[in-house]
Amino acid sequence: MDVYALYRDLGGIREGHFLLSSGMHSPLFFQSAAVMQHPKVARKLAAALAEQVAGWPVDFVIGPAIGGVLLSSYLAEQLGVRGIFAEKSADPERMRIRPGLIVQPGEHFLAVEDVLTTGGSVGRAIRAAEAMGGRCSGLAAIIDRSGGNTLPAAPLAALLTLTVPRYPPATCPICDQGLPLQEI
Ligand SMILES: [Zn+2]
Repeated sequence: MDVYALYRDLGGIREGHFLLSSGMHSPLFFQSAAVMQHPKVARKLAAALAEQVAGWPVDFVIGPAIGGVLLSSYLAEQLGVRGIFAEKSADPERMRIRPGLIVQPGEHFLAVEDVLTTGGSVGRAIRAAEAMGGRCSGLAAIIDRSGGNTLPAAPLAALLTLTVPRYPPATCPICDQGLPLQEI
Protein backbone atom coordinates (compact mmCIF):
# COMPACT_ATOMS: atom_id res chain seq x y z
CA MET A 1 0.00 0.00 0.00
CA ASP A 2 1.35 3.43 -0.95
CA VAL A 3 0.41 5.30 2.21
CA TYR A 4 2.03 8.53 1.05
CA ALA A 5 -0.02 8.63 -2.15
CA LEU A 6 -3.16 7.69 -0.26
CA TYR A 7 -2.66 10.55 2.21
CA ARG A 8 -1.77 13.02 -0.54
CA ASP A 9 -4.77 12.07 -2.68
CA LEU A 10 -7.19 12.43 0.24
CA GLY A 11 -5.75 15.71 1.50
CA GLY A 12 -3.95 14.10 4.44
CA ILE A 13 -0.54 15.36 3.36
CA ARG A 14 -0.22 18.86 2.01
CA GLU A 15 3.00 19.93 0.34
CA GLY A 16 4.13 23.53 0.46
CA HIS A 17 5.46 25.88 3.11
CA PHE A 18 3.92 25.62 6.55
CA LEU A 19 4.40 27.42 9.85
CA LEU A 20 4.35 24.84 12.65
CA SER A 21 3.14 25.66 16.15
CA SER A 22 6.77 25.39 17.26
CA GLY A 23 7.63 28.35 15.00
CA MET A 24 9.63 26.16 12.61
CA HIS A 25 8.92 25.97 8.88
CA SER A 26 8.13 22.67 7.17
CA PRO A 27 7.45 21.54 3.57
CA LEU A 28 4.80 19.03 4.71
CA PHE A 29 1.67 19.19 6.79
CA PHE A 30 -0.20 16.09 7.98
CA GLN A 31 -3.93 15.91 8.60
CA SER A 32 -4.96 12.31 9.27
CA ALA A 33 -8.59 13.23 9.89
CA ALA A 34 -8.84 13.93 6.14
CA VAL A 35 -7.97 10.27 5.56
CA MET A 36 -9.70 8.66 8.52
CA GLN A 37 -13.04 10.28 7.65
CA HIS A 38 -13.35 7.55 5.02
CA PRO A 39 -14.23 4.37 6.94
CA LYS A 40 -13.19 1.95 4.20
CA VAL A 41 -9.77 3.59 3.99
CA ALA A 42 -9.44 3.68 7.78
CA ARG A 43 -10.28 -0.01 7.95
CA LYS A 44 -7.70 -0.83 5.26
CA LEU A 45 -4.97 1.07 7.11
CA ALA A 46 -5.90 -0.63 10.39
CA ALA A 47 -5.79 -4.04 8.72
CA ALA A 48 -2.28 -3.36 7.42
CA LEU A 49 -1.14 -2.30 10.89
CA ALA A 50 -2.82 -5.33 12.46
CA GLU A 51 -0.65 -7.56 10.24
CA GLN A 52 2.47 -5.84 11.54
CA VAL A 53 1.57 -6.35 15.19
CA ALA A 54 0.40 -9.96 14.79
CA GLY A 55 1.75 -11.95 17.71
CA TRP A 56 2.12 -8.99 20.06
CA PRO A 57 0.18 -9.50 23.30
CA VAL A 58 -2.74 -7.05 23.11
CA ASP A 59 -5.81 -6.99 25.34
CA PHE A 60 -6.80 -3.47 24.33
CA VAL A 61 -5.65 -0.61 22.13
CA ILE A 62 -5.31 2.96 23.40
CA GLY A 63 -4.73 6.22 21.57
CA PRO A 64 -4.54 9.85 22.66
CA ALA A 65 -7.60 11.98 21.81
CA ILE A 66 -8.37 13.32 19.31
CA GLY A 67 -5.99 11.97 16.67
CA GLY A 68 -5.64 8.48 18.13
CA VAL A 69 -9.31 7.75 18.78
CA LEU A 70 -10.39 6.50 15.38
CA LEU A 71 -7.21 4.51 14.80
CA SER A 72 -7.58 2.88 18.22
CA SER A 73 -11.10 1.81 17.39
CA TYR A 74 -10.40 0.53 13.88
CA LEU A 75 -7.28 -1.34 14.99
CA ALA A 76 -9.11 -2.83 17.95
CA GLU A 77 -11.75 -4.12 15.54
CA GLN A 78 -9.04 -5.86 13.49
CA LEU A 79 -7.44 -7.39 16.58
CA GLY A 80 -10.73 -8.38 18.20
CA VAL A 81 -10.02 -6.43 21.39
CA ARG A 82 -11.28 -3.25 23.10
CA GLY A 83 -10.35 0.15 21.72
CA ILE A 84 -10.11 3.02 24.19
CA PHE A 85 -8.60 6.49 24.39
CA ALA A 86 -6.95 8.86 26.83
CA GLU A 87 -7.79 12.53 26.86
CA LYS A 88 -6.40 15.78 28.19
CA SER A 89 -6.85 16.49 31.86
CA ALA A 90 -6.44 19.66 33.92
CA ASP A 91 -2.76 18.75 34.30
CA PRO A 92 -1.00 19.25 30.91
CA GLU A 93 1.51 16.53 31.84
CA ARG A 94 -1.15 13.89 32.37
CA MET A 95 -3.95 12.34 30.37
CA ARG A 96 -7.03 10.76 31.87
CA ILE A 97 -8.98 7.66 30.95
CA ARG A 98 -12.63 8.33 31.57
CA PRO A 99 -14.76 6.07 33.78
CA GLY A 100 -16.36 3.24 31.85
CA LEU A 101 -13.30 2.56 29.74
CA ILE A 102 -11.80 -0.69 30.96
CA VAL A 103 -8.17 -1.26 31.93
CA GLN A 104 -7.63 -4.38 34.05
CA PRO A 105 -4.38 -4.71 36.03
CA GLY A 106 -1.91 -6.90 34.14
CA GLU A 107 -3.54 -6.44 30.74
CA HIS A 108 -1.29 -5.79 27.76
CA PHE A 109 -2.04 -2.88 25.49
CA LEU A 110 -0.95 -1.45 22.18
CA ALA A 111 -0.56 2.33 22.05
CA VAL A 112 -1.42 4.06 18.78
CA GLU A 113 -1.07 7.45 17.19
CA ASP A 114 -1.96 8.40 13.63
CA VAL A 115 1.20 10.41 12.96
CA LEU A 116 4.04 9.88 15.41
CA THR A 117 6.23 12.96 15.84
CA THR A 118 7.67 13.44 19.31
CA GLY A 119 5.59 10.71 20.94
CA GLY A 120 4.56 13.22 23.61
CA SER A 121 0.82 12.68 23.62
CA VAL A 122 0.94 8.93 23.03
CA GLY A 123 3.46 8.78 25.88
CA ARG A 124 0.94 10.45 28.18
CA ALA A 125 -1.71 7.94 27.05
CA ILE A 126 0.70 5.08 27.84
CA ARG A 127 1.40 6.45 31.32
CA ALA A 128 -2.34 6.81 31.99
CA ALA A 129 -2.93 3.14 31.10
CA GLU A 130 0.13 2.02 33.03
CA ALA A 131 -1.11 3.92 36.09
CA MET A 132 -4.18 1.66 35.98
CA GLY A 133 -2.04 -1.49 35.82
CA GLY A 134 -1.76 -1.93 32.05
CA ARG A 135 1.46 -3.12 30.40
CA CYS A 136 2.53 -1.59 27.09
CA SER A 137 3.41 -4.08 24.33
CA GLY A 138 4.50 -1.45 21.84
CA LEU A 139 3.52 1.41 19.59
CA ALA A 140 1.75 1.51 16.25
CA ALA A 141 1.40 4.49 13.92
CA ILE A 142 0.22 5.01 10.38
CA ILE A 143 3.09 7.43 9.76
CA ASP A 144 6.29 7.55 11.75
CA ARG A 145 7.95 10.93 11.33
CA SER A 146 9.74 10.79 14.67
CA GLY A 147 13.12 10.85 12.92
CA GLY A 148 15.38 9.99 15.82
CA ASN A 149 13.18 11.19 18.67
CA THR A 150 13.25 8.91 21.69
CA LEU A 151 9.87 7.24 21.66
CA PRO A 152 7.92 6.34 24.80
CA ALA A 153 7.71 2.62 23.98
CA ALA A 154 9.11 -0.10 21.75
CA PRO A 155 8.69 -2.02 19.51
CA LEU A 156 7.22 0.27 16.86
CA ALA A 157 5.02 -0.72 13.92
CA ALA A 158 4.45 1.88 11.19
CA LEU A 159 3.11 1.83 7.64
CA LEU A 160 5.27 4.71 6.45
CA THR A 161 8.48 6.16 7.86
CA LEU A 162 9.33 9.68 6.80
CA THR A 163 12.03 12.14 7.68
CA VAL A 164 10.44 15.55 7.38
CA PRO A 165 12.79 18.51 7.54
CA ARG A 166 11.95 21.40 9.81
CA TYR A 167 13.74 24.69 9.42
CA PRO A 168 14.24 27.72 11.64
CA PRO A 169 12.80 30.73 9.78
CA ALA A 170 16.23 32.34 9.41
CA THR A 171 17.66 29.43 7.40
CA CYS A 172 14.52 28.10 5.69
CA PRO A 173 15.26 27.20 2.05
CA ILE A 174 11.55 27.36 1.16
CA CYS A 175 11.49 31.00 2.28
CA ASP A 176 14.40 31.52 -0.13
CA GLN A 177 12.26 30.10 -2.95
CA GLY A 178 9.65 32.76 -2.20
CA LEU A 179 6.81 30.32 -1.57
CA PRO A 180 4.16 31.95 0.67
CA LEU A 181 4.09 30.69 4.26
CA GLN A 182 0.81 29.10 5.37
CA GLU A 183 -0.31 28.96 8.97
CA ILE A 184 -1.81 25.65 10.06
ZN1 LIG B 1 10.19 29.12 5.43
